Amino acid sequence: MKKITVIGAGTMGNGIAHVFAQSGFNVQLFDISEAALERALVTIGKNMDRQIAKERMSEGDKKAALDRLHTGTNLAKSVSHADLIVEAATENKEIKFNLFKQLDELAPAHCILSSNTSSISITKIAAQTSRPDKVIGMHFMNPVPVMKLVEIIRGYSTSNETMNAVVEMSTSLGKVPVACNDYSGFVANRILMPMINEAIISLHEGVAGVHEIDTIMKLGMAHPMGPLQLADFIGLDVCLSIMNVLYEGLGNTKYAPCPLLVNMVAAGKLGVKSSEGFYDYSSGVKNATVSNQFN
Ligand code: NAD
Repeated sequence: MKKITVIGAGTMGNGIAHVFAQSGFNVQLFDISEAALERALVTIGKNMDRQIAKERMSEGDKKAALDRLHTGTNLAKSVSHADLIVEAATENKEIKFNLFKQLDELAPAHCILSSNTSSISITKIAAQTSRPDKVIGMHFMNPVPVMKLVEIIRGYSTSNETMNAVVEMSTSLGKVPVACNDYSGFVANRILMPMINEAIISLHEGVAGVHEIDTIMKLGMAHPMGPLQLADFIGLDVCLSIMNVLYEGLGNTKYAPCPLLVNMVAAGKLGVKSSEGFYDYSSGVKNATVSNQFN
């Protein structure tokens, strides 16, 4: 597999395109938004500069990687020569189902179709296509250039051949692929999201404040950041959508999203991306203070 198409140029898509281009693959980055593609190229350039400053990449490597990276808003052109597609568009079932129907029609017959979805069923995505054996989950972690794990999700119909090809490909990116089966939330989010939700419930019930909850989890569990800060980084809308998938998919009230999370998303307090969540980021992410709501 030499030619890779990444669908969606947001937080994850730009990181995935970065890593493939850096590892020597030809990358076509597609988005419906020209502005998102422009932002992605700026972000990739800045992140590569950071790698250069840490002496993990040379100026020559950066130029070569950027030369291998092409962007476009024409889906047919972007996928016509792809060996592997990694879909990282917005976490929305209808968007993904629609995309996979189109990808199945437009991509070469040999092409593997993967999704970076955090929680949507790979088996249901695969069922939109005529090649469910070639559909698989490639769940990269944020920030993609830094995080080693790729959670590989085997859908009900995913073939061993597809599984092996994707495991080998992830290893060639310098990542550590770990396989699991296709049940709601897979492994990473099935465990992480209920922890974040429980932190929000603790805040909602007045067990402790934002700083206290995050500090207890940081110092007590040796987590690099507290669950509320992590929720802000992931995006509270994304957290809510994953909790809803767990709740619906596993049918257990222990996965019901906290009413405070539901309200914050309804109020547009989405975390870092909207400048306010549990913390206020309006004066810069590093200077975040506990949001007024929780003082
Ligand atoms: P994002 O909102 O930053 O970016 C989504 C991009 O998809 C946007 O640029 C948007 O224009 C584009 N898009 C929307 N509809 C499209 C379409 N039909 N075709 C092509 N592009 C389209 O989202 P993100 O955080 O990068 O998440 C992308 C995927 O990665 C989601 O499935 C999410 O669950 C998953 N994911 C996110 C994280 C995270 O920490 N943010 C971690 C792991 C996995």
